[in-house]
Amino acid sequence: MWFPAHLALGYLLGVRSRLLLGWCLLGAALPDIIDKSLGLSGVLPAYQTVSHSIFGLVVVVTALHTAVDDSTYRAGVAFAVGWLSHLGADLFQLTLDGRVAHAAGMLGWPMTHWSNPMVDGSAPGYTDTLLSWLPFLSEGYVAQYLSSASFPIELLVCLAALALFVTDRYRKPQATAGQSRR
Ligand SMILES: [Zn+2]
Repeated sequence: MWFPAHLALGYLLGVRSRLLLGWCLLGAALPDIIDKSLGLSGVLPAYQTVSHSIFGLVVVVTALHTAVDDSTYRAGVAFAVGWLSHLGADLFQLTLDGRVAHAAGMLGWPMTHWSNPMVDGSAPGYTDTLLSWLPFLSEGYVAQYLSSASFPIELLVCLAALALFVTDRYRKPQATAGQSRR
């Protein structure tokens, strides 16, 4: 899934479920920050590896187990919800786009999934472009992404988060003004 859509989903979940927003956003963002950094730096030959697998879930369980009091527990829950939303959204997007094998394989990395089409070139349009040194920003990838089945849904999630953000910002000054009049 598109990185902004992960942030948007984390924002929607965090605000609607009254979670600690910063921790929820961190959980939603971290799997891509970690794995795409590892992929781009050439440490691993794919962009959905450690953090997108069952091993990544260990991080989430650890986050919950390190809770020593109520506030760290709330941070752990928000982080876990954000992280799980990232994995769930990627699985949903890959399945919707017909990449079921990749979706299933992602969770079992490195046993079930090692490299991916962006790197080995087995999917047309991923590596044959101007910016092939940065595959997920290449022309072929962008074109493929914009025409994918999941793109309209991702766009909708981003717009919903933006709408919630704007209405929240608009409502807060009014609530503050209302309180100060009392
Ligand atoms: Zn991801």
